Parts: sequence; structure tokens; C-alpha cells
Amino acid sequence: MLLALFALARRRWRASGASEAPPEPRTPPPPNSAVAAALEAVRARLKALTTELRLPVTPKLVAVSKTKPAETVREAYDAGQRIFGENYVQEMMDKAPLLPPDCQWHFIGHLQSNKAKHIVTLPNLACVESVDSVKIADALDKACSMSGRKKPLSVFVQVNSSGEESKYGVEPADALELVQHIRSKCKRLRCEGLMTIGALDYSPSPVCLERMLACRKEVAEGLGVPEASLALSMGMSADYEQAIRMGSTSVRIGSTIFGKR
Ligand SMILES: *Cc1c(COP(=O)(O)O)cnc(C)c1O
Repeated sequence: MLLALFALARRRWRASGASEAPPEPRTPPPPNSAVAAALEAVRARLKALTTELRLPVTPKLVAVSKTKPAETVREAYDAGQRIFGENYVQEMMDKAPLLPPDCQWHFIGHLQSNKAKHIVTLPNLACVESVDSVKIADALDKACSMSGRKKPLSVFVQVNSSGEESKYGVEPADALELVQHIRSKCKRLRCEGLMTIGALDYSPSPVCLERMLACRKEVAEGLGVPEASLALSMGMSADYEQAIRMGSTSVRIGSTIFGKR
């Protein structure tokens, strides 16, 4: 009886084709939207740069979806993108719940400390890249503690590397102090590294990038940690390739993926 069942099962298994040669490797389906195609092109660039520069890991891609509707963001999600960046609190809070919960939201805009409580209620807020004062760091830390959030919230210290008055961010010389404050006083935050926005016209800006490298070096020495342990979020559509060549580990790309705003 058992043997008969076994023989039957084996015949079925054969009939199902399981014993035949393995299928040809699947070629990925062609991208079905302009967003998917643009995303694919950026990914290919990141991969090529990783190989060329022999990077230990491919730079992180934050797809900046500000001003774009949830349906457009969904196209990137369907093409495999999970990390998204927004720079207005309300827009992020409205949009994030319309997308699947495994999206990781990075807040990259200027944050007022009174919005910290609100922003941490988003369960899949993964990172605040724009911490530029003790006040904001403390507000986020407190908000995380009040909200009962389990995982520490990743943050970056934003540095004003262009020297423009209109830019948010701490002066490069003050970055170490803020990083130290976060590491020693803000138990619910995890400082990943430094973030910057280049020059105002968003054109490639090697001076800003060089200032950031020097700033990271100073912070790493001050903390007594290897430079490579501090992430660098720098580079946008116009200059991401150059930023990666200079050591950026995370790029924030909007218009190249989602089109003009
Ligand atoms: C809008 C924005 C970006 C993306 O800019 P693109 O030029 O569209 O790639 C990156 N970082 C920050 C902080 C932004 O506000």
C-alpha cells in the first residue's frame, strides 16, 4: 500500500516536470513604467560604481518622493524600492500609510522640534537625516521614549557644507559635539553619520564634498572610531556619482527617478 502510494507520488512528481532539466534562468521582466525604468538605470549605475570603485557595499539608495503622489511612489515600490525620502512632515505622514508597511521612510527635510512627537508615530519611520541641533535630537529622543518605539531611531547629523546662510545644518566644526551629544545622551537614537546638501544650485560641488570628508575625519578622530564606521549621506540627482566617488555611502535621488517636480 505504502509502496503503491510512493510510486504514484513519484509518477505525479515526474509528470509535474520536476525531474526535467532546470528551467532557463528567468530574465527580469521589462520595467513597466517610466519610474521603474529610471530606477533600474540608477541601480545599474550604483552597481557599476560599486564594482569600479571596489566598494565593500553598494551605496544606499533613498528614493526622494517629495511632491509625488502615492501611486507614483508605488511604481517604485513595485520595482523593488523600499527606502523613500520626504522633506515635509505632513506630506510624509499623509503618504506613508497609503504605501505598504515595509517601506522605510527617511525624513530629509528641516524638522521643528515640536513636530518630533508627531513624526515618531509613523511606525516605519526609519531615519531622520536632518538632525542639526541638540534641541531636535533631544526632542526626537524623548518622543521615541514616550511613543514606546522599540528599535532605536537612526539619525544623521546634518552639516552645512556649503557655508550658505540659507542652509540648515551645523557648521562642520560643530558636528563632533552634536554627534557626541547624541551618542552619550540620546539613548533612543542611533547616530549613523553625517548628511549634507550641496551648494544651493544643487550642482556638483566638490568643495562641499571635500568639507564633508574632512568633517567626518574630524568626527571619527574625536570619537576614536574608524572613519568607515560613519555613514555619509551626500549626493542627489545632479551629483550622486561624484559624491559616491568621494566616499558617499548613501544617496538621495528624486527627480532622476520620479521626474521633474
Ligand atoms: C529634494 C531633495 C533631494 C533630491 O533632489 P533631486 O535633485 O531631485 O535628486 C535630496 N535631498 C534633499 C534634502 C532634498 O530635499
